[in-house]
Amino acid sequence: MTETILVRAATLADGTSTDILVRNGRIAELGRAIFASADRLIDGAGLIALPGLVDLHTHLREPGFEQSETVLSGSRAAAIGGFTAVHAMANTSPVADTAGVVEQVMSLGDRHGYVTVRPVGAVTRGLEGQQLSEIGAMANSRARVRMFSDDGKCVSDPLLMRHALEYVKTFGGVIAQHAQEPRLTEGAQMNEGTLSGELGLAGWPAVAEEAIIARDVLLAQHVGARLHVCHLSTAGSVEVVRWAKARGIDVTAEVTPHHLLLTEQLAASYDSRYKVNPPLRRDEDVRAVREGLADGTIDIVATDHAPHPVEAKDCEWAAAAFGMVGLESALSVVQASVVDTGLLDWADVARVFSRTPAAIGQLDGYDRGIAVGAPASFTLYDPSVSRVFETTQLRGKGINSPYLSTTLPGRVVTTVHRGHATVLDGELVDAETVAAAARALDQAGADHG
Ligand SMILES: [Zn+2]
Repeated sequence: MTETILVRAATLADGTSTDILVRNGRIAELGRAIFASADRLIDGAGLIALPGLVDLHTHLREPGFEQSETVLSGSRAAAIGGFTAVHAMANTSPVADTAGVVEQVMSLGDRHGYVTVRPVGAVTRGLEGQQLSEIGAMANSRARVRMFSDDGKCVSDPLLMRHALEYVKTFGGVIAQHAQEPRLTEGAQMNEGTLSGELGLAGWPAVAEEAIIARDVLLAQHVGARLHVCHLSTAGSVEVVRWAKARGIDVTAEVTPHHLLLTEQLAASYDSRYKVNPPLRRDEDVRAVREGLADGTIDIVATDHAPHPVEAKDCEWAAAAFGMVGLESALSVVQASVVDTGLLDWADVARVFSRTPAAIGQLDGYDRGIAVGAPASFTLYDPSVSRVFETTQLRGKGINSPYLSTTLPGRVVTTVHRGHATVLDGELVDAETVAAAARALDQAGADHG
């Protein structure tokens, strides 16, 4: 048996108020005062109903780094953040460069049932940047991989990048590039500029990112293939992508919540929670990425959720690992940086954080949003509250959040994934219940929207 859920009087992203009836994993009915019996009644008053968030850039760390995160713990962090699908990056151990590894990661996600887990395949074998991985085998596997990335590392060899673009073009795949010219960033610790000089930390020049993006959009144009730019962080990068789109080049770009909100000034604390790749940039870069997201130059928000064990961060800046956790705080940070500032409305948030990332990742079921007949994957969000963000609100294994002890707006109240609740009253539904609901739906023959 699958659960029937009735949400009363939630507000859709376009501002209309509606009840939402969920049955057999799908949205059965929308409208006011729906008359139906339900296993679970949810009061949606004051809550915004957004289509389930889709993250195109998540580090789940399994297999190999289970002390940092697992598919289960990362799925729980995602659900509490309002996500119903994540794309798991390939820098695991073994690397996700074969059909076997990507199928394993996808199966773990399906079994746990909190979110859909779509594996990202490595572009190069072992992320070593020497030869292409088994791209075709991963694309043809049960995981149907469509996005490939060496994220964490840049595919810096232009010939290899060209070949990767040519290969994925044959089946409509996309290469997601971590744009970082390695020779220009050797030993780099933070954004290069006046502040890095003052702090005595090796600088990471904006050009190291911009030069790779410029090269890659031209390669994508030459090949006629699709390119996705990961975590774009500088004003110059926005300019390059804007130029490429004006020329009709098939490129999409993402920005992280932290690059929408935080600046390099935080590095002055030498607190390694602010150490991230690419680094936090200047005020003018934050302004430019916000404007780029608002005008459509940047297509989506993606978290780059990067959990680390405490000991990898609890050390001096130069020795600390790069990365921040982001799934649990993402929607609040988007609200603070671009909604409360008037740049995006909630319909825009639904586009940049659900529909478009699903389209780039070729994930079915998200093209219609919250609509009758569509898979019931949505989140109910209360934008009117604020909270002091603490480790007690994190659900993944990593506590390396840059927002601890700061006040963030909004709170995810409920998440529904494929028709079953994963979050209720701001708390995770327990793992056994969620896994059983996912099994019941699979036995009922529902597809994996
Ligand atoms: Zn990256």
